[in-house]
Amino acid sequence: MKIKFYTLKNMESSIHFNKLSNDQKEAIKVVGSVLPFRVNNYVIDNLINWDDIPNDPVFQLTFMQKGMLSQENYEKVKDVLYNENSTQADIASMIFKVRKDLNPHPAGQLSQNVPKLDDMEVEGVQHKYKETVLVFPSSGQLCHAYCTFCFRWPQFIGDKDLKFSTDKDMEYLNYLKENKGVTDVLFTGGDPMIMNTKMIKSYMEPLLSEEYSHITNIRIGSKSLSYWPSRFTQDNDVDELLEFFQKINQSGKRLAFMAHINHPNEMKTEEFVKAVKNIQSTGTIIRSQAPLLKHINDDAETWSTMWKRQVQLGIIPYYMFVERDTGPKEYFSVSLSDAYEIYQKAIQNVSGLARTVRGPSMSATPGKVCVDGITTINGEKVFALKLLQARNSNAVNRPFFAKYDKEATWLSDLELLEDNDKLFF
Ligand SMILES: *Cc1c(COP(=O)(O)O)cnc(C)c1O
Ligand code: SF4
Repeated sequence: MKIKFYTLKNMESSIHFNKLSNDQKEAIKVVGSVLPFRVNNYVIDNLINWDDIPNDPVFQLTFMQKGMLSQENYEKVKDVLYNENSTQADIASMIFKVRKDLNPHPAGQLSQNVPKLDDMEVEGVQHKYKETVLVFPSSGQLCHAYCTFCFRWPQFIGDKDLKFSTDKDMEYLNYLKENKGVTDVLFTGGDPMIMNTKMIKSYMEPLLSEEYSHITNIRIGSKSLSYWPSRFTQDNDVDELLEFFQKINQSGKRLAFMAHINHPNEMKTEEFVKAVKNIQSTGTIIRSQAPLLKHINDDAETWSTMWKRQVQLGIIPYYMFVERDTGPKEYFSVSLSDAYEIYQKAIQNVSGLARTVRGPSMSATPGKVCVDGITTINGEKVFALKLLQARNSNAVNRPFFAKYDKEATWLSDLELLEDNDKLFF
């Protein structure tokens, strides 16, 4: 099977396009001018039930919906797009304005986490937590399909100021060489698996040499397993890819494949199962992570079904995230209170093998903050919270509390109980 991409330009060539109402087509065009839109033939032919749109979870995951922009912004973009007197410049400036409203770089990503080497910023690298460095390969800043909720959307819209990726000298290698405290390197994007095997090797193979013996885990963060499983079964260079995975594992390091899977429907095809087996046959461990999203997976049964199936396939459930404060956050957000209830109920319905998953967790400025429970202290209802990861590693795994707030959707909405403030600052 050959990958075929559908974007705003060629959407109409898909037979499924006829099934969309005029309102849906308009929404794709309007919202898709602000946020990146792209799906592929595998996703639309195998993962979406076209008799159940617009509610189908993978349809919501990949096709823009009207509610993904505020009503005001939607109307503004629609007006400028459909007004025949609009110039290209009018359209571009409106889109630019609306994008700025969507908080393109949340949690101080660009300002606080870019490391320096000899006083120069190391491009395409984030180093937030002591042991793990994130690398954004410049050739991996695309995906096999785009998720409508994606917090990495600024990577895909071609705006150089918003984009974040490695330079051609691969300075990240020097950075890693000099930082012996780093044990894990996580290649992310975009999707690093969009690269061909040769390119993947050029980024990862240097790490197998002696100078990098402190790096014990190489991670790949990817949605390819569910968006394009042929990457591991049929693509031209698949043999070379699997051999390379095996080589990493035989070198004494471990390759960890961090699969992004939002819904059990993404795990139904034979191609998916075959891809999982092929990756595992190289000694690679697959773990799964995903955000909790309204319209897509905001009920406990979806999660317990997903985790059970993953464990059955040998995939280790790892993180459940709370949707970040960027992009179409309003459309997808679930309150922290509901998120906790969903997690709790889902965990109760799986065996201990699936209770490896931690969450619901917010990737916020101080670190990954997990809602650990809802309880009462001195007669007051509170959230029990915990840092799963922290910039300041002394804060990891220490409980702290915030006043219960039924509507809160993010850490910044919470009022911490007084003496907790010192945890962060
Ligand atoms: C989640 C995350 C990591 C990896 O954390 P682990 O808990 O080791 O999986 C690294 N860097 C950033 C910025 C992260 O958000
Ligand atoms: S696959 Fe990952 S990076 Fe790509 S659009 Fe989806 S969430 Fe974003």
